[in-house]
Amino acid sequence: MSILVTRSSLPPFEEFQEEIQSMWETHWLTNLGVKHCELEEKLRTYLDVFNLSLFTNGHLALEMVLQALELTGEVITTPFSFASTTHAIVRNGLEPVFCDIKASDYTLDPSLLEALITEKTSAILPVHVYGNVCDIDAIQKIADKYNLRVIYDAAHAFAETYKGQGIGNFGDASMFSFHATKVFHTIEGGAVSTSNASIKQKLEMLKNFGITGPEDIVDVGGNAKMNEFQAAMGLCNLRHLGEEIAKRKQVVERYRENLTGISGIKLNTVQAVVIENYAYFPVVFDQYRYTRDQVFEKLKEHEIYARKYFYPTINTFACYSDRYDVNETPIAQYIADRVLTLPLYADLSLGDVDRICDIITT
Ligand SMILES: *Cc1c(COP(=O)(O)O)cnc(C)c1O
Repeated sequence: MSILVTRSSLPPFEEFQEEIQSMWETHWLTNLGVKHCELEEKLRTYLDVFNLSLFTNGHLALEMVLQALELTGEVITTPFSFASTTHAIVRNGLEPVFCDIKASDYTLDPSLLEALITEKTSAILPVHVYGNVCDIDAIQKIADKYNLRVIYDAAHAFAETYKGQGIGNFGDASMFSFHATKVFHTIEGGAVSTSNASIKQKLEMLKNFGITGPEDIVDVGGNAKMNEFQAAMGLCNLRHLGEEIAKRKQVVERYRENLTGISGIKLNTVQAVVIENYAYFPVVFDQYRYTRDQVFEKLKEHEIYARKYFYPTINTFACYSDRYDVNETPIAQYIADRVLTLPLYADLSLGDVDRICDIITT
């Protein structure tokens, strides 16, 4: 049987059935129903944040928090991410400015930030890529100096903590994705956390067409509400999250045992002040006996589908390629050409991990 890079977790069927049963009595399917409210509060507690606003997906959550913050001009971000990060900037009529990443953990390099700030800069949008937490303290220091907003794309960092605090507590706001392929999911879904209650209030309004009352539409919002079926899936998945992460941890540890200390194979750095979620297992092949593309093909011959995640970088996408000079982010290009994300999900057997590693190393 083939192995894909990820596999969505599902609760026992009966559990989901039980969770959605009440909807056949209430006929309340969306618009902040009981499931939505219960999940929002449970996740807020779980993430240990002040305010949380649920969305129908992570991308719209990001688009709307950028709108809520009333940003203007330029937003500095990383090209080493999923398309969503930059698209959210551009779809708000803002100009992305690409900052290179650190070779050590692939997150935005704060030492390059100041040179990119102009009088048009209004915000920084870094990504906790693969769950690697950004250099939060250095980024905030620069943001404070230039009076910039900081919005974290925390799509990969659900359930993580940094120096003992929930990862959603930093910057002005953080976006989470609950897409089916993420560590915790609501089929499709997302959220914004923020310590600022007025941002939360604005998000509630924006995700429901800018409506504040039956006859009051005060802003040009959209529709990005999470529905009751999504919330019910979230309530079920949340009950199993601890064991899911524990199983992922075992898979990651097995990969590490097998691949540590091999010349030319660079594993993801473990961050001492972070409790991680084991979301991804990126490997960089740098002067290894096989190139990244060769490893990718070797695995494919055995019906094992790793992903070149993130390749290509966003600033080389066809929709942006004429506008940016990719030579300005050489580290991102270097990593993108060499990185491969190996299969990782809770039910991946340790035997399969061994098999994958054997194919890579022989
Ligand atoms: C998944 C993801 C998103 C978008 O989230 P969706 O819920 O799929 O809309 C944004 N940024 C990153 C880095 C992601 O991995």
